Amino acid sequence: MPFQLTDEQLLTRDAVRQFAEAEIAPIAAEIDRDHRPPLESIPKLAELGLLGLVIPEEYGGTGADSVSFAIAIEELSRVCGTHGVLVEAHSSLCTWPIVHHGNAEQKQKYLPALASGEAIGAFGLTEPGAGSDAAHTATTAQRDGDDFVLNGQKIFITNGGFAKTFVVIARSLLDVPGVKGLSAFIVERDTPGFQVLEPERKMGIRGSSTTPLAFSDCRVPAANLLGREGEGFKIAMQTLDGGRTGIAAQAVGIAQGAFEAACAYAKERVQFGQPIAALQAIQWMIADMAVDLEAGRALVYQAADLESRQEPHSQASAMAKLFCGEMATRVTGKAIQIHGGVGYTEAYPVERMYRDAKITEIYEGTSEIQRLVIARQYLR
Ligand SMILES: Cc1cc2nc3c(=O)[nH]c(=O)nc-3n(C[C@H](O)[C@H](O)[C@H](O)COP(=O)(O)OP(=O)(O)OC[C@H]3O[C@@H](n4cnc5c(N)ncnc54)[C@H](O)[C@@H]3O)c2cc1C
Repeated sequence: MPFQLTDEQLLTRDAVRQFAEAEIAPIAAEIDRDHRPPLESIPKLAELGLLGLVIPEEYGGTGADSVSFAIAIEELSRVCGTHGVLVEAHSSLCTWPIVHHGNAEQKQKYLPALASGEAIGAFGLTEPGAGSDAAHTATTAQRDGDDFVLNGQKIFITNGGFAKTFVVIARSLLDVPGVKGLSAFIVERDTPGFQVLEPERKMGIRGSSTTPLAFSDCRVPAANLLGREGEGFKIAMQTLDGGRTGIAAQAVGIAQGAFEAACAYAKERVQFGQPIAALQAIQWMIADMAVDLEAGRALVYQAADLESRQEPHSQASAMAKLFCGEMATRVTGKAIQIHGGVGYTEAYPVERMYRDAKITEIYEGTSEIQRLVIARQYLR
């Protein structure tokens, strides 16, 4: 039976779609071309409640369920993958761990600003020597009195260029090897010894700010330890369980945008005296794209629904991320094929969507890592 959205979820979809078409679609090509973070969108996203979706109402958020969150990310990504990941990383990767692992003081201090857009969030796990393999995290956090002193480097941090609040994973139990020595910290942007370095120039989601972070004797108050010492890896993995559903939703959104563009073009482009939509070769591509999208969206809703009901969802989110990442690359590729030569140019949005789709197979755990997570459940 197809997943039935509630009236509230349908309202969320309509409101975010309307907003995205009116406010984001007009700047999507330009921020991509100029590699420009869309800072002007932040107050607008906040006004619509999109920066506080995972934050309880008592801290200024909307306390939305996970399906509504996925719908919002899909709708933003349908017109612009950059906006989708801005909200996704802010919400799933920084805000979520503070909501679920923060103490009362940390929630009071950080969540209202994250909900209002006064602070954008980011999450720092990846390092030059620790990508898929977080056990080799080399950034250290050495206890010194009432502080932890951070030293090391992170790379590829989404929202890095403008975020104010960072959740950072570092090794605080220096004599405990592997993931058990890791802890999570909330780090404020203006902390002395903390530096955000030059953004990467990327293939896609070019408006998204992706930066390295450097820590040089950066003193973070012990009060900013998130959860308990040694829980950093557990917190990061739980964070990524939800995050992966968000990236899967981003992938569905990008693919949906490309699908709609391909349908419109197929009806309008005439060759051999008829619209190419009349050709069976084109119809088959459209049919395959539609099936891919339905399957991907169902996996996203299933994972998000499990999360909303607080049931185990690592497996479901890994499946959604794996399928939707690869599906988005397939669907956007077919959208270019249907456009022919113009699809390969910047004149049509499918070229940008194809480039944006690829990252959904890589970040928050590559497709290979999702396969490991999934297979492990069956083989242990
Ligand atoms: C645009 C962008 C934004 C990002 N945002 C963030 C962010 O906000 N925060 C953050 O912490 N990180 C972020 N990342 C990092 C991202 O999560 C990593 O790039 C990703 O997890 C892969 O790590 P890696 O790049 O080091 O690749 P590697 O781990 O070096 O992998 C290279 C290849 O080897 C494969 N591989 C590795 N290990 C295995 C294995 N055990 N079995 C099978 N295959 C394997 C991988 O699948 C991949 O194909 C971002 C990256 C990008 C490009």
